[in-house]
Amino acid sequence: MLYKNIFLLLGSNLGDRLSCLSLCLELIEEHVGTIIKKSSIYETTAWGRTDQPDFLNQAIEIETPFPPTELLSACQNIEKKIGRQREEKWGARTIDIDIIYFGDKIIHSNELTIPHPRMTERKFVLIPLTQISPSFVHPILKKTSEELLKQCRDELLVKYFSPQRREGAK
Ligand code: ATP
Ligand code: CA
Ligand code: CA
Repeated sequence: MLYKNIFLLLGSNLGDRLSCLSLCLELIEEHVGTIIKKSSIYETTAWGRTDQPDFLNQAIEIETPFPPTELLSACQNIEKKIGRQREEKWGARTIDIDIIYFGDKIIHSNELTIPHPRMTERKFVLIPLTQISPSFVHPILKKTSEELLKQCRDELLVKYFSPQRREGAK
């Protein structure tokens, strides 16, 4: 059995951010499932706490044999492998993997909330998500990614990040 229409948001704001993202994609293919689509990479001012480096963010769509809690553990294992150590809320990290949608499943457990509860307040989620899946419908709000983006009031800057540009060569 393969679960489909699963959307993840990757983020990195520590170390060599581009390498962290590409290593994350490799580990996802190896340990989690098939990557069906990936968005461009975007650079975003840190949300929630602005006293830390800018993030690179990328949304991907995957298919996986893992049900939601196992998917979460698999993603957390990858976060550990890539060296995420700080557990401070909204702190800097080499890689953060958030589960945005798991098909049209709605989950509210202690360890997992799906759809991701803060996605609608974050353009750094909605912009890459809309790029790869403009018409996927939020299972609770019944709105497409494109509609959610249009009504989002987030004012943090989300810029297209050219993958050709080397880290540090600003
Ligand atoms: P935010 O969730 O606001 O983006 P964060 O990514 O910094 O914050 P973390 O420290 O990475 O938060 O995660 C804290 C916990 O959130 C995880 O241990 C996990 O159990 C839980 N969690 C709940 N829902 C989700 C989800 N949809 N995707 C990933 N983790 C989730
Ligand atoms: Ca996050
Ligand atoms: Ca997270």
